[in-house]
Amino acid sequence: MNGKYGLNKREIADLLRERDINPTTQRIEIAHLLYEKPQHLSAEEIRQRMNSEYEKCSQATVYNTLRLFVERDVVRELIFSSDRIYYDSNTEKHHHFVDVDSGNIYDLPEHMIQPPTLEGCALEGAEVLETSIIVRGKLNGDGSHLENMQNNCCRSSQRSTLKSRKVTEKKSEE
Ligand SMILES: [Zn+2]
Repeated sequence: MNGKYGLNKREIADLLRERDINPTTQRIEIAHLLYEKPQHLSAEEIRQRMNSEYEKCSQATVYNTLRLFVERDVVRELIFSSDRIYYDSNTEKHHHFVDVDSGNIYDLPEHMIQPPTLEGCALEGAEVLETSIIVRGKLNGDGSHLENMQNNCCRSSQRSTLKSRKVTEKKSEE
């Protein structure tokens, strides 16, 4: 797995400083929670876990922190719809598989799916920064195969770019 997972709080503070973020206690705790492993958590799940495992943290603090983290590439925002937004601790380029039965989200390595060429479609006047695919389906089994793939997906080293990026979600409907 990538070196950023399972970091202690001092290492998390260093990582935030690298991204030009003042490492307040609550920011460190939110990043510590997200970087436990590659995962996709909603703001509400993060707030609930913060309140049960760490210091009490207001909803506004969680939302403001997540906005800052997305801006500085600490996490990626994964928007399925206006009411299903997740924060992804894997900041490498990758695609996703969503199990329609459980709602679980798994990372798929970038090389696994050839993204569509967008040349010639009506995207004039827009600069495409990235295309990511969401595959929806049903699991035949317990998902351990996809979990292993997810762990291998995020092996490569963490980039240190501070440039914020817009995520272009290209849904792949069945
Ligand atoms: Zn992901």
